[in-house]
Amino acid sequence: MSGSTKTVAVIGGGLGGLASACVLGARGHKVTLYDKNDWIGGKAAVFTEDGFRFDMGPTILTVPRVLERIFAEAGRDLNDYLDLRRLDPQWGCFFDDGTRFDLAENVEEMAVAMDRFAPGRGNGEGYRKFQAMSENLHGVSERFFFWKAVEDLFDTIDVRANLNPDTLRDVMSLRMGRTVAGTIRSHVKDERLAQMLDHFTQYVGSNPYGSPAVLCAIAHMQAAEGIWYPMGGTRAVAEALAKLAGELGATLKPSTEITGLDMENGAVRGVKRADGGIEPFDCVVSNMDSIRTYRELVGGDVGARYDRKGFEPACSGVVLYLGLNRRYDHILHHDFVFSRDAHEEFDYIYNKGEPAPDPTAYLCAPSSTDPSVAPEGGEALYVLVHTPYLRPHHDWSQMFPAYRQVILDKLKRTAGMADIEERIVVERHLTPQDIHDRYKVLNGAIYGLASHGRFLGAFKPGNRSRDVKGLYLAGGAAHPGPGMPMVMMSGWIAADALDQDARGPALQQAS
Ligand SMILES: Cc1cc2nc3c(=O)[nH]c(=O)nc-3n(C[C@H](O)[C@H](O)[C@H](O)COP(=O)(O)OP(=O)(O)OC[C@H]3O[C@@H](n4cnc5c(N)ncnc54)[C@H](O)[C@@H]3O)c2cc1C
Repeated sequence: MSGSTKTVAVIGGGLGGLASACVLGARGHKVTLYDKNDWIGGKAAVFTEDGFRFDMGPTILTVPRVLERIFAEAGRDLNDYLDLRRLDPQWGCFFDDGTRFDLAENVEEMAVAMDRFAPGRGNGEGYRKFQAMSENLHGVSERFFFWKAVEDLFDTIDVRANLNPDTLRDVMSLRMGRTVAGTIRSHVKDERLAQMLDHFTQYVGSNPYGSPAVLCAIAHMQAAEGIWYPMGGTRAVAEALAKLAGELGATLKPSTEITGLDMENGAVRGVKRADGGIEPFDCVVSNMDSIRTYRELVGGDVGARYDRKGFEPACSGVVLYLGLNRRYDHILHHDFVFSRDAHEEFDYIYNKGEPAPDPTAYLCAPSSTDPSVAPEGGEALYVLVHTPYLRPHHDWSQMFPAYRQVILDKLKRTAGMADIEERIVVERHLTPQDIHDRYKVLNGAIYGLASHGRFLGAFKPGNRSRDVKGLYLAGGAAHPGPGMPMVMMSGWIAADALDQDARGPALQQAS
């Protein structure tokens, strides 16, 4: 194809790849999307058995604005494709001391509830201030970090504008050098409430004791924009994007693995399929893990350089999918059953590299919102426990049975589910090794690359490759990072960068 219309291969049909395919299609490019799996949607997969339906991966949808923007690219209304329901309270929280607290959307309501839960320590006022700071951090992120192709600090800030007092104020407000956990505890003194707030960083699979304070912005995004459930499950998001991509002319090719890029003089010419075939394309968007893209699809010096950059995989996890013949009425749609000691838990997962002896379990119990997930009166209970990314000595076929029991015992002890084993009628699970094999990620990581590093931890490989002309990156291991809204934003950014280059001089230099 000539002129500003390009033929584009998208490698990987996760939410990031699908978002790219939609935006590229909407802007007139000719897209072919490949996924090695026989379904499209990547981690947003589904499992059904005996009348139970489980979302296998993501279950918490935040910041629906990103989805709206992708559909708006094509002049479509998101509401014609997805039926989104707002969930408030957002999380039920069960603490190890037997207490319970529900996280609600409204900041003022929360502040009052926190003072009632843990009186006399200024927790409510601390939460108000924490949310105000978080709102400011979110504003700075929108101005410098979101919706544009970024690889490092220099991409975010125009050096010539550094003397601008507004920019300097924004940089100072990033609280560089401070961690999420430290920032939370300087505002909210009650350790249980602080532990609850720590878990916003679990959306990005990173240690709150090692992640930069800017990630506290997630708290405001969730309070201001809510938590949503797409009827039909989060799988419905992948299906809606796949439908839109098809309507916009994209060809979706499941069961097709890409094993390399066909390149000439440092520029993309096409993709190499696992069956040996080569297909020509003007450009490629890789939704495969960014480090593995450079290592396995590009290779050579470039691959070796990305391996040396010191990026660390985010955490992995164990998921239990439990079909229960009787639902629990005391839990919410989303719940956290917290560990006895946040510091110990994160130390095991992120420093020692071993599963925590007393973990936090996240529960998704969607039957109260969507009765179609289970036979009448039952529950499709999803239990996720974060674990370290895969180390060479981890053999989950050996480790799983004992850890399954640790998780069930935790639910019995801390979440009031003493009879859970008697209620299970369907059971399946996912281990870090399964996640590694199914989704071709880095060391079984659920959320791409960790955001560790007090100063620059939020930066990931950029969406417009600096090393290979015509290569763009989207997904949880590329800028701006993991989680449904961020990977879809990543897909939008990769597509937008490609489209801008197609219209401007940059790509012509490559050909
Ligand atoms: C258990 C679990 C729970 C989660 N919970 C949440 C949550 O509640 N909320 C939230 O926002 N996020 C959550 N996440 C994270 C979220 O699912 C991911 O950040 C997001 O879905 C990843 O999208 P992605 O675009 O990076 O692609 P992925 O979903 O990783 O998909 C990439 C696809 O590319 C394919 N692929 C890779 N390499 C190749 C190749 N060479 N050739 C062909 N195909 C290839 C893979 O097969 C895969 O299908 C969760 C993830 C998991 C696993």
